[in-house]
Amino acid sequence: MKKIGEVGFMEKPMPTIITGRGAIIKTTTALVCTSDIHTVKGAIGERFDHTLGHEACGIVHSVGNNATLFKPGDRIVVNAITPCYRCHNCQRGFPSQCTQALGGWKFANTKDGSFAEYFHVNDADANLTLIPENVSDEAACYTTDMMSTGFKGAENAGIVLGGSAAVFGLGPVGQMCVAGARLLGAGMIIGVDNVPHRLELAKEYGADITINFNEKDPVEEIMALTNGEGVDSSMEAVGAQKPFENCIYATRPGGTISNVGYHGEGDYINLPRLAWGVGMAEKTIKTLLCPGGSERMTRLLRIVQTGRVDPTKLTSHHFKFADMEKAFWMMDTKEDNMIKPVIHFD
Ligand code: ZN
Repeated sequence: MKKIGEVGFMEKPMPTIITGRGAIIKTTTALVCTSDIHTVKGAIGERFDHTLGHEACGIVHSVGNNATLFKPGDRIVVNAITPCYRCHNCQRGFPSQCTQALGGWKFANTKDGSFAEYFHVNDADANLTLIPENVSDEAACYTTDMMSTGFKGAENAGIVLGGSAAVFGLGPVGQMCVAGARLLGAGMIIGVDNVPHRLELAKEYGADITINFNEKDPVEEIMALTNGEGVDSSMEAVGAQKPFENCIYATRPGGTISNVGYHGEGDYINLPRLAWGVGMAEKTIKTLLCPGGSERMTRLLRIVQTGRVDPTKLTSHHFKFADMEKAFWMMDTKEDNMIKPVIHFD
């Protein structure tokens, strides 16, 4: 990102290890995220000559003196979020909200990200994870954000064994909300979007019913499917007013609305007052930021390794690193049925 609205290649010096706990990774594979697009459009403010990217895996190039668990040559993956595990928010159990200088969401936010031949990882022992032999780099990259975020969306939605769940927005994170709801035992999963191939893919990931919101009103449909009660759990995986309020309408009293989407525009998100029971419907709204750390990543890799979920079905395009500017803008327009582009560094 050269500045708001402008991306392109530039030469930068080799990154150096910032504290003894850090590591330098030689990037092998990366994914482009819609949040990178938000960043370039100015959602988190101006950035100059800023390296984007937070979904990547690679080979350990070097480690700091105080990082003891990894060595050069290790094939690793690192989550989009890299907490320090020492600050107050980490100690309170909210490591994604890490407040230390290099923790929390820092890749392509307050430090350079992974769309480069080499990138720096803080607190390597806690944030790097070895990739099992039978897991590809491409599959491993999906654990860094799409799986961790989407599955957390389902975990936060309080999925009830045999209960009902709706996912609004079937981009890559929404697809992983569907897969997560399936893993957690939802009895009926309803996927909502307006793009036919996304609706089809959601069925592969476990949606029982899909609703094209260009053809039918999703709230009316969900009400009809649940005897007028609404679902136990809903997930907002877009980051916009309409799907957010649809979650409030479509969730039954006592149910849970899990916000997963990145609300990149506007100053307020409004609640529909009556559907919210004038504040008394006991509808819980939960929010999240992608959980990181090697324990989380080990669990996600296990789900890939055992074939419970194949995240590579999300891959719609492959690009070489040299062509990533094209991949980046295609991720914005979603042209050519774009879901997720994989960037190969060699
Ligand atoms: Zn991402």
